[in-house]
Amino acid sequence: MNIALMAHDDKKELMTQFCIAYCGILSRHNLCATGTTGKLVSEATGLKITQFLSGSQGGDQQIGARIACNEIDLLLVFRSLEPKPNEPKEATLLRLCDVHNIPVATNIATAEALIHSLDRGDLDWRDIVNPKNN
Ligand code: PGA
Repeated sequence: MNIALMAHDDKKELMTQFCIAYCGILSRHNLCATGTTGKLVSEATGLKITQFLSGSQGGDQQIGARIACNEIDLLLVFRSLEPKPNEPKEATLLRLCDVHNIPVATNIATAEALIHSLDRGDLDWRDIVNPKNN
């Protein structure tokens, strides 16, 4: 599966800890991330992560483009609880997940539920809609 990661600044530590905790599961998949998130997680875990541009420079849109092309199977985006000027961009990303029926977690509780589903094979139906995974 192709998994995309993105975390706002005050959620990057949470994302890093999440990825350390689930490193074994994540290592069996293709990972990509916005620039800083990918760098921090990769340094902390040793996971191989395709790093896009920083979110502020369009990395989130690079993820969005891949969602639109059906190249992402799961999105973990840990958002700041503070109102941010780039909220409309994230709304676009989440809308794209809805359009393409991509499982998406915006908080760690849902992320944990999805990662366990991933590990159990519950998301294998994605391989049917995304033959590029095979
Ligand atoms: P970053 O992007 O991982 O490059 O910081 C995410 C964000 O814009 O918060």
